[in-house]
Amino acid sequence: MNVNHQDYDLIIIGGGPVGMALALALRGSGTSVLLLEARGLPGKTEDPRPLALSYGSRLILQRLGVWKGLPGVSPILTIHISNRGGLGRTVLTAAETGVPALGYVINHHDLFRAMYRALKNCDAGELEYLTGAQVTRLETHAGPGQVEFQHDGVTKKATARLLVVADGGRLISQIEGVTQHVQDYQQWAVVARVKTERFANMAPSAMAEVAKPPVKVSPSRRRHFSQAKHLADNDSPHTQPGVAYERFTPDGPVALLPSGEYFSLVWTVSPSAAEEILALDDVSFLARLHGHFGDRLGKFIEAGKRSGFPLALKYATPITACRVVLIGNAAQTLHPVAGQGFNLGLRDAWELAEEIIAWPTETGTPAMLARYGSKRQMDSSVGRIFTDSLVKFFSNDDPVLGTARSMGLSALDCLPQAKRFVARRMMFGARG
Ligand SMILES: Cc1cc2nc3c(=O)[nH]c(=O)nc-3n(C[C@H](O)[C@H](O)[C@H](O)COP(=O)(O)OP(=O)(O)OC[C@H]3O[C@@H](n4cnc5c(N)ncnc54)[C@H](O)[C@@H]3O)c2cc1C
Repeated sequence: MNVNHQDYDLIIIGGGPVGMALALALRGSGTSVLLLEARGLPGKTEDPRPLALSYGSRLILQRLGVWKGLPGVSPILTIHISNRGGLGRTVLTAAETGVPALGYVINHHDLFRAMYRALKNCDAGELEYLTGAQVTRLETHAGPGQVEFQHDGVTKKATARLLVVADGGRLISQIEGVTQHVQDYQQWAVVARVKTERFANMAPSAMAEVAKPPVKVSPSRRRHFSQAKHLADNDSPHTQPGVAYERFTPDGPVALLPSGEYFSLVWTVSPSAAEEILALDDVSFLARLHGHFGDRLGKFIEAGKRSGFPLALKYATPITACRVVLIGNAAQTLHPVAGQGFNLGLRDAWELAEEIIAWPTETGTPAMLARYGSKRQMDSSVGRIFTDSLVKFFSNDDPVLGTARSMGLSALDCLPQAKRFVARRMMFGARG
C-alpha cells in the first residue's frame, strides 16, 4: 500500500470506541475511509472502566453488528438515586419508563475488542485501519484536509475531503478556529469491580434470569415489564439484581453499576483522596468504601484491581472547522456522573455517518459541516449542561443545597411523568 499522499473521502483520527463506531457505520456506503489509531489492541485489563450504555446506544450497536459479540452485558432495570445525609431518594424503573431496560453495563475493553474484531473483518478496499499510527500534524487550509502520521517508524501523509477528529481532544490546538474549553473538576474517579455482602447472597437462579439481556424489543417488552414488576412487588430494591445505585456525597457521586454478580464501582473523590485510596490494600479499601457508601448493600467483601481517572469538563467550540469535524470526547469530555460521554459520542458518530451517506457528494463541504453542526448542537449542549449541573448541584456540603437536593429527589420520585422525562433523556439524548 502506498500511503504517502494517498487520498480518501474520510480520515478518522483516533480509533477509540467513537472513531471505530463511525468507521463501522460507514461500511458498505462506498465511502473510502482511513482510520488511524495510535495504540495497538489494548490488553484485557488495560482499561477497566465500566460503560453504562443507554437503550438508544444498544440500538445503534445492534445496527453496527457489535452488540451480539459483547460478553457480560448486564441490564439495568432500576436506578436508585440517593443523597448521603438526606432523606430524599428517587427510583427509576424500566417498567415505568416503558422499555425493557434503562440501560446496560459493559466493560470498555470488551467494547473496544468487539469493535476491533469487526473492523479487522472489513473489506480493505473500503476501509484501511492502521493501528500504531500516531497523527502528528493536521492541515486544514483550502483544498483537502491533510494529516501527517508516524507508522512503522516512517512519516506518512494522507489527504481527505473530511478529517474526523476522534482523538479525545489531543490535537485540537492544531485546528484553526476551534477553541477547547477546560474546567478541571478537581476530582478523580476510582474504578474497580466489587462484591457486596447482600447482593452476594442472592439466589443464583434469580440472577441468571435477569442477566439474560432482551433481544427483541416488542415481544420481550411485555416479558420484561412483568419481570420488573415481579421484582418490584417481591423484593426491596437493594436485594434485586439489575439495580444501579447513584449516591451523591459532598466529595462527589459514587455509582455502583450491576455487573453480573459484581458491581462496577465508579467512586468520585478529591485528587489527594484518590492517591490514598489507590494505595490501600483490599481490606482497607473495602472498609473505606463501606464507610463512604453506607450499609444499603451490607459490607463490601471483594475488590478487583483499582484504577484512577482525573475528571474535567472539556468541550470544543465550534465542533466543525474547514474540512474538519470533532466527535466523541474530542467534541465533549464529560464527568461520568450521568454515564453520558460515550452515549453522546456514539450519537455523534451515528449522525455524522447518516449525513455522509445521505449526501455523499457533499462530504466535507461548508454546507455539510453547517448541517451536521446544527444537528448536534442541542443534544451535545443538553448532555453537557445536564451533567455539569449534576456535578455542581450534588457535589458540595452547602446545607441549603442539601435540603434542596433531598426535596428534589423526593419530589421527582412522586412525579411519574417527570421521571419518565429524565429517564428518556438519559436513554436517547435531548430528542428522546
Ligand atoms: C471513569 C469513567 C467512567 C465512564 N463511564 C461512562 C459511562 O458509564 N457511560 C458513558 O457513556 N461514558 C462513560 N465514560 C466516558 C467514555 O469513556 C468516553 O466518552 C469514551 O471513551 C470516549 O470515546 P472516544 O473514542 O471519543 O475517545 P477516547 O476513548 O479518548 O479515544 C481516543 C482514541 O484516539 C487515539 N488517539 C489519540 N491521539 C491520537 C493521535 N494523535 N493519532 C492517532 N490516534 C490518537 C487514542 O489512542 C484513543 O484510542 C466514562 C469515562 C470515565 C473516565
